[in-house]
This record gives sequence, C-alpha cells and structure tokens, in this order.
Amino acid sequence: MGEIDPPGHADHDDHSELGEMEARTRALESILTAKGYVDPAALDALIDTYETQVGPRNGARVVARAWLDPRFRAWLLEDATAAVAALGYHGRQGEHLVALENTAARHHLVVCTLCSCYPWSVLGLPPAWYKSAAYRARAVRDPRGVLADFGVALPPETEIRVCDSTAEIRYLVIPRRPPGTEGLDEAALAALVTRDSMIGTGLARVP
Ligand code: FE
Repeated sequence: MGEIDPPGHADHDDHSELGEMEARTRALESILTAKGYVDPAALDALIDTYETQVGPRNGARVVARAWLDPRFRAWLLEDATAAVAALGYHGRQGEHLVALENTAARHHLVVCTLCSCYPWSVLGLPPAWYKSAAYRARAVRDPRGVLADFGVALPPETEIRVCDSTAEIRYLVIPRRPPGTEGLDEAALAALVTRDSMIGTGLARVP
C-alpha cells in the first residue's frame, strides 16, 4: 500500500484482530476513499440500507399480501417485479423477479448453482449457506436431503422443483399459508413468513 496512509486509521493495533477478509475489505475501502473513488458517507448509507431497510421483512410483507389479496397474488405470479415495486420494493437485483407458489403438490427450492444470485430487494443479502459450494451442489442432486437438513420433511407425493437463479431471473417463493391463520391481518401473517420459507428451505411458521 506504500505511500497511502488511510485517514481515520490511527488505531493500527486493532488491525491484528481483524479477520483476513475484514482486513482486506478495510484496506480496499481505505485506498478507494484516499483516491477519491468512493465517498465513505455514501458507502455507509449503502450498507445501512442493506442491513436495516432491505431484508426479508420486505418479502414477508409481499407474501402476506398475496395470502390475503387474490388479485395481488395473481399479479405477483404474473409479474412479480411490478407487483413488488407497487409495494415500494425495487432496486438492485430486484429486477426480473419471478414468484413461485408452493402448494401441496409442488414445493420450490431456490439455488444459484453458479454463484449466489438472490432477490436482494425482497430478501436482503443472502445467508452464508446459500453461497456455500455444498448447498449449491447438493440442492440440485439431493433436494429432499437438503430439506431434511433444514428440518423440513415433505410428503413423498409432493414434487420438489429446484429453481436455479441467474443474473436474469431471481426467485421469490410464496410459502403455503399455514393452517389456523384465517383471522390474522397482514402484519400478523408477515410475522410467520421466514426468510428460509421464501427460499424454499423452510416453511412458514404455524401460529
Ligand atoms: Fe449467482
């Protein structure tokens, strides 16, 4: 890094305690900031967005709305990008969104076999296991085994369809609405929708 002396890094002693990836990230951010390529405030705003504003709560609200409103559900299945945008969720990696409805007959499981394509606008950033080589390979080869690892046992007559995300298509799974939820409003329903249920590695919670 030579002559670059990043600002705000007087605490050099801390560096030894950083993991390698964090140290690399910090070094990269320092260089980009020092050279004027990135504005630290803009970077903080971006990180805050993905940590606090964009996340699976957005997707949960979409699912709850689809459970309650048949017209919204139809729109979501027809054009998920537009339906989700109507609720105010759009932005990077939310384009070309496709909603997949789980039923008694068919369960969808989403994977990105190539890398880690994921619908950021509705689910936030992907969990570490979603990016793991083990999940990516085994979801295709042995989806029922993967579901068992996640504690999900489906009846043998339920077909499991594995959907491979790409840069062109991101999937949002609409889990089955749990029994005993007839009187619940949208917020109460959304609280039952887990991140994993929208990837297909889980089911919605029973109240
Ligand atoms: Fe990918």
